[in-house]
Amino acid sequence: MTTLIQKTPCPYCKIKTSVELPKNFAPVYVWCNSCKKKFIVERLAEGFQAMTIEEAPCCSDPDCRELEMGGSDEQ
Ligand SMILES: [Zn+2]
Repeated sequence: MTTLIQKTPCPYCKIKTSVELPKNFAPVYVWCNSCKKKFIVERLAEGFQAMTIEEAPCCSDPDCRELEMGGSDEQ
């Protein structure tokens, strides 16, 4: 089993920070330990990517996705 805790350079301050990867391919918000900014981590087919809120497309932004898929609270 691969660990979901990974280290990645923060897209804002470039300092390595620990992130917890989502268990699926839905993007999640994580907070940098250094600059405390919120950024997005999204799993890829291999590995993962970190991106700033500003550069993330809507489909990679948890809030934006929720709005687009909104209307149903069913799980
Ligand atoms: Zn940072």
